[in-house]
Amino acid sequence: MRILITGGTVLSSTGAVQADVLVDGETIAALSAPGISWDADKVIDATGKYVLPGGIDAHTHMEMPFGGTHSNDTFETGTTAAAWGGTTTIIDFAVQAKGTTLQSTLDKWHSKADGNCAIDYGFHMIVSDVNETSLKEMQTCVDQGVNSFKMFMAYPGVFYATDGEILRAMQKAADIGGLIMMHAENGIAIDELVAQALQEGRTDPVQHGLTRPSALEGEATSRAITLAKVTGSPLYIVHLSAAEALNAVAAARNTGQNVFAETCPQYLYLSIEDLAKPDFEGSKYVASPPLRPKEHQASLWNGLRTNDLSVVSTDHCPFCFNEQKELGRGDFSKIPNGIPGVEHRMDLLHQGVVAGEISLARWVEITSTTPARMFGLYPRKGTISPGSDADIVVYDPQATQTLSVETHHMNVDYSAYEGMQITGKVDTVLSRGRVVVEGNAFHGSAGHGQFLSRELCQYLN
Ligand SMILES: [Zn+2]
Repeated sequence: MRILITGGTVLSSTGAVQADVLVDGETIAALSAPGISWDADKVIDATGKYVLPGGIDAHTHMEMPFGGTHSNDTFETGTTAAAWGGTTTIIDFAVQAKGTTLQSTLDKWHSKADGNCAIDYGFHMIVSDVNETSLKEMQTCVDQGVNSFKMFMAYPGVFYATDGEILRAMQKAADIGGLIMMHAENGIAIDELVAQALQEGRTDPVQHGLTRPSALEGEATSRAITLAKVTGSPLYIVHLSAAEALNAVAAARNTGQNVFAETCPQYLYLSIEDLAKPDFEGSKYVASPPLRPKEHQASLWNGLRTNDLSVVSTDHCPFCFNEQKELGRGDFSKIPNGIPGVEHRMDLLHQGVVAGEISLARWVEITSTTPARMFGLYPRKGTISPGSDADIVVYDPQATQTLSVETHHMNVDYSAYEGMQITGKVDTVLSRGRVVVEGNAFHGSAGHGQFLSRELCQYLN
């Protein structure tokens, strides 16, 4: 099957060109000057539209266990929603439960995802039990294409790792070419603040934000950077939300240290005012780190321009309002943490282009090209080049849409962006040469998506 995409503006992380794109089978065969005739079985007219590499969401949580429940998207529903929104690769987190091995964790996540994904997918490994066995198993994970390891300075008693445990895992990562990903919040201090709030009868969702001050994200980020420096390990700060944390990352990067960070759309567009919505509505916005006061948003946009923030991922972790978020009525600390968003990342960041916050090239870079290079998928993913996988989005920059639970495809009963007006809309999506979205219809299928065995990070000094 040969598909010709004609008349569009092909975007990359370095700019835009008028070109036609020829897809042959699962890969891109050629970029050519507009109008050269090729034999093709199907022609997609992209006149007036952008043609860009499919989005790579490097931070999702499908079917993730949390506090006695599960995030509500399966690998099938979550990857289908991703495709609708122009994302053609996800990297999800396999979650080690304490007392289990990394290998059994990886096997378990393969059994959830394999044969069920509509788009390609890879895994990171969450290491919650640092011991001799799991440290050795980090190498076997790398051998199986999983070379990024997430650790937590938050959630004592669940995922929390001590500084000593982090140090040991970082030493190992430095040794084997692994990348340590860090949830950087001071969970020990936060738990005290949470206990005090509950004791004083402050139980509403907004307390989730008030008990996790941005300074404690800044402190943990600095500490993680120091531990990375001591061990020589590369470090990737996940879901950075606070100006203090960004300053720490920028300072480390200025010294040449291998420190990287991502932020998420919710930190760019939502704030603690959403968490403060009455009638438990704020629970829809509970995630960690929490939504911040609005003034942090300008810092984050600036970080995206300076590349101190290199990637935007969603931390997609959908819990329904009914029955799931409601577990925390009367006790904000029992609200499952997570905000749905895998479907809307490309659109929300295109709004950043519309608003003049970032350039078109930067839009492509932070949503596709950099995640591909950061997580060892480039040039198979993240670029429209001959030989690359034909993961392609045709995007209509003039179309308008309104985000809503009525129209989204994520398996969750609310939208964190309900009613938001968006300029731009996904028109057509190809995943490895197969048209999966076209003309407001879904043509993909569970099982089309393949597991991606990833190479090492391509940004290390
Ligand atoms: Zn996460």
